[in-house]
Amino acid sequence: MTQTSAADEVARRPRIVIIGGGFGGLTAAQGLARAEADITLIDRRNHHLFQPLLYQVATAVLSPAQIAQPIRTIVRNNANTRVVLDDVTGIDLEARIARTTQEGEVPFDYLIVAAGASHDYFGRDDWSAFAPGLKSLEDATNIRRRILEAFERAETAATQEERAAYLTFCIVGGGPTGVEMAGAIAELARRTLRGEFRRFDPADTKVILIEGGPRVLSSMPDSLSGKAHRGLEKLGVTVRTGKMVTNCQPDRIELGEEAIACRTIIWAAGVRASPAGNWLGAEQDRAGRVIVGQDLSIPGHPDIFVIGDTAAVFTQKGIPVPGVAPAAKQQGTFVAELIATRLSGGDTASRRFVYKDQGNLATIGRSQAVVHMGRLKLSGTLAWWFWGVVHIFFLIDFRNRISVLLDWLLTYLTYGRGSRLITDPPRPKGPDIT
Ligand SMILES: Cc1cc2nc3c(=O)[nH]c(=O)nc-3n(C[C@H](O)[C@H](O)[C@H](O)COP(=O)(O)OP(=O)(O)OC[C@H]3O[C@@H](n4cnc5c(N)ncnc54)[C@H](O)[C@@H]3O)c2cc1C
Repeated sequence: MTQTSAADEVARRPRIVIIGGGFGGLTAAQGLARAEADITLIDRRNHHLFQPLLYQVATAVLSPAQIAQPIRTIVRNNANTRVVLDDVTGIDLEARIARTTQEGEVPFDYLIVAAGASHDYFGRDDWSAFAPGLKSLEDATNIRRRILEAFERAETAATQEERAAYLTFCIVGGGPTGVEMAGAIAELARRTLRGEFRRFDPADTKVILIEGGPRVLSSMPDSLSGKAHRGLEKLGVTVRTGKMVTNCQPDRIELGEEAIACRTIIWAAGVRASPAGNWLGAEQDRAGRVIVGQDLSIPGHPDIFVIGDTAAVFTQKGIPVPGVAPAAKQQGTFVAELIATRLSGGDTASRRFVYKDQGNLATIGRSQAVVHMGRLKLSGTLAWWFWGVVHIFFLIDFRNRISVLLDWLLTYLTYGRGSRLITDPPRPKGPDIT
């Protein structure tokens, strides 16, 4: 090392690398905006995505730009933060370097891993070609194309069987995403598309929601889960609980001995953490989440934190913290405060992350939602308004809030959907195996 670089080394500010500009990583970056440190925020996408409204992009209610915002724009006033569009492929704990495909090696003193999660097909990754999951904007526009194209194919189908298969939509997984997707597809078919086709009535569309457990929305109380079930049935959704999917193919889904002919399957059943646990060589749970300590650092590495969907965090009573946006944001805030305290010479030895449950919400369809917050249980129209206000409030940008609000208002008044374009070239007739 030359004398100059040795001096630089002494003078330089601490380097904080944040992997992921989602709910956890972005909140951490914002919390460190005034820290005396150099922050590098790395994400493989240039935008922060509001995942709770992805299903509305997938069902043509909203367009992609309404629920996403460039990360660079969000942190433009944070003079200490550099945004890097790059894919992290590994971490060298000894050398304290994150490896990426573009920049190569990014050194750090503190590391925050907030790389999220993706779909889990429980060892059947081959199903992903026929049963896409919903995680990114690309997933949402791909699913939107499949849904809209299925109705177009039904118009030109040669036989009734073929038409019926195109008009059958199976959604696997009865959590909030599955419930919301099922309700939105049923409303698209019965309301929005009414009167638009000549060879069939879109009201004949079958939407089947398949759940392996005994009830939908299992994280909610029984009463709300029952209301959601009945609400879906009122919209025309067939809810099949206690049914495990045993095979997904381009032209059918199998539930044990039973095969359902369908051309559109949507996977909303499982979540697998980012492979960050492997990069770190850290202990993981069955979903690949890194098991972190009470201060969200990994054992033996007090300067390396894992947060959000990539982390397995437990409350002091040993209850797992759910993989939801408020949890990721709270963890981002916690880690940012902890690092800022250390940077200013404070003692953080006694810091423990405490999760504050902000409740569960899911919408079923127009004027129907369920809300569970502490002792408060709401359903129906009031819950739906509440759901809408909360989602508008948490959207990241004022412009997005206004434009989503206007689109929702128009959808409410007209049943129309503002984003019904199929922009890719038409694909050959026959089972979809893309
Ligand atoms: C369809 C859907 C609906 C949901 N609905 C709700 C809801 O209604 N309410 C709720 O509270 N929660 C909801 N969630 C869950 C919520 O979105 C997540 O819990 C939350 O996003 C987790 O935040 P995170 O920061 O851990 O990960 P994310 O927000 O997913 O962010 C991870 C970031 O890391 C980046 N990244 C990943 N790997 C790499 C890499 N190797 N290199 C560089 N960058 C990388 C990604 O591009 C992404 O930007 C939903 C999730 C989905 C998918």
